[in-house]
Amino acid sequence: MEKLISEGNCVFCQEIFKQSGMSRHLAKHLSELPATKYQSFHLNISAGEMFLHVQMDGSATLGELDDFLRAIWLECCGHMSSFEVKGKRYDNDWDDMDAEIGESQTKKVSLLFKKDMVLEYQYDFGSTTHLSMKVMGEYPTATPKGIKLLSRNNPLKILCHVCNEKPAAIICSVCVYEGEGMLCKTCVTKHKKTCDDFADYAAMKLVNSPRMGTCAYEGGTIDVARDGVWKS
Ligand SMILES: [Zn+2]
Ligand SMILES: [Zn+2]
Ligand SMILES: [Zn+2]
Ligand SMILES: [Zn+2]
Repeated sequence: MEKLISEGNCVFCQEIFKQSGMSRHLAKHLSELPATKYQSFHLNISAGEMFLHVQMDGSATLGELDDFLRAIWLECCGHMSSFEVKGKRYDNDWDDMDAEIGESQTKKVSLLFKKDMVLEYQYDFGSTTHLSMKVMGEYPTATPKGIKLLSRNNPLKILCHVCNEKPAAIICSVCVYEGEGMLCKTCVTKHKKTCDDFADYAAMKLVNSPRMGTCAYEGGTIDVARDGVWKS
C-alpha cells in the first residue's frame, strides 16, 4: 500500500499543511501571541499518520490530557491508561481506588514538561492503542480552557482493501488482521455473505482515530466533524 498523505488545517489561519510541516508552522503563530505571566506548552501527539497538535496550559494536568485524548480519539469502555515520561509511569486508576501502579495523573504539566520531552501513552492494557507525544515548545501565554486543539489530521485517504478504488467506510475487525478488512460500501455487501464474523459482531465504523476497529471504538465525542471517512 502506498504511504498515506497526512495533512490538517491550522486553527489560526485555516491553511492546510502536511504532517511533517505542521509543528514548525504552528510554532510561528504561537510565538506571535502576546506574552503574559502564564505558561503554555505545544504538544505534538501522533500514531503513525494520525496526529493532534494541542496547546496546553501549564496549570492543566496529565489527567486533563487523558480526558481530552479519550474524548477525541480513544474512549470505548473506560479502560485504564498510562503516560510514561523518562521511565516513570503516570497511571489513570479512577476505576480502581485501590490500584497502586505508577504515579497519579494529577500532576500539573508545568512541573513535568520541558521542551523536546518525549512521552509515551497507552490506552487499554489489553488491546492497546499506543500514542507518542513530544513537547515542541513552551510559550508565555495562557490556554483558557486548559487544552486547545490546534490541528488534527483530516480523514486519511484509505482505499477499500478489496476494490482498491473507493474510500473504505467500514472495518471488519477480524479480516483487518489479514489486510482485507477495510471495506467500501459496495464491497461490504459482498463481505457480509462470505464472513460470518462480520455479520455477527465484527462490523465497525471506520473513523479518524488510531483506535478505529479496536475493541468497541465507534468514534469520538468532540471535533466530530473531522471524525468521519475520507470523501473523494
Ligand atoms: Zn496557520
Ligand atoms: Zn473497549
Ligand atoms: Zn470496495
Ligand atoms: Zn470479515
